[in-house]
Amino acid sequence: MPDPTRLSINQICVLPQWSLAQAIEGLARHSVPAISVWREKLHEIGLAEARRRIDGTGLAVSGLCFAGLISSADPAEAAKARDDVRRAIDEAAGIDAACLVFLSGGVDARDKDLAATRARVLDGLAQLEDHARGAGVVIAIEPLHPMACVTRSVLTTLKLANDWCDALGAEDVFGITVDAYVTWWDPELPQQIARAGKRIRAFHVSDWLTDTQDLRLDRGMPGDGVIELPAIRRMVEAAGYSGHVEVEIMSARNWWKRDPDDVVRTIKQRFVTEV
Ligand code: ZN
Repeated sequence: MPDPTRLSINQICVLPQWSLAQAIEGLARHSVPAISVWREKLHEIGLAEARRRIDGTGLAVSGLCFAGLISSADPAEAAKARDDVRRAIDEAAGIDAACLVFLSGGVDARDKDLAATRARVLDGLAQLEDHARGAGVVIAIEPLHPMACVTRSVLTTLKLANDWCDALGAEDVFGITVDAYVTWWDPELPQQIARAGKRIRAFHVSDWLTDTQDLRLDRGMPGDGVIELPAIRRMVEAAGYSGHVEVEIMSARNWWKRDPDDVVRTIKQRFVTEV
């Protein structure tokens, strides 16, 4: 059983139901120790107001989601995307987030060369190093399930995330987000989590439903699916990670339609029994 003080709830779990102000108030009311903030909701109220409200509750911020998508083959587009990441870095600093979650971006239909696309993202990350260091923000690169290679992430395995961190060579700035939902299937998971070690800056959990209907927006509540979450949590802890365990459920057909207070209550219960 994880230490309940390590629970973080990603705002995405109640994204349609609650504004950021409501999520901050709601999680604090349920004595949840930490929140992970979604940028589109942050922009609705602005950085200063978000900071004021978060400070007022004492909530920790386990992450800011998300920035990236810098894989474009068009140099102007890629530069624009990197500028947006720089803005997100400043936002992460502004709310004292433990990390900025980074998604690489998918394969561009104008350039089907996957190896070149990956090289472009790695080069783009290197260009963000100075800005992140200046802001004191860790960029936690998150590999996604290979099915998201077109839409979201040419970074498809934890091994590749480790390889990129080796290549970047700036462990103070670049880390890794381990998300159980997108990595649980990987036969190399134990070795690559151990290899990641102190690079792990965020740990996300949700469950893979046996009848999943949407690869992005049909995540399950811990305990409702097939992922052996406690085993993965123990691997991440054995690698040296002692930060927040963040429940991150995008669920268009179920949890996004529920009473948000019930969602939070259920997460708190399942965190103790299923994570
Ligand atoms: Zn995640």
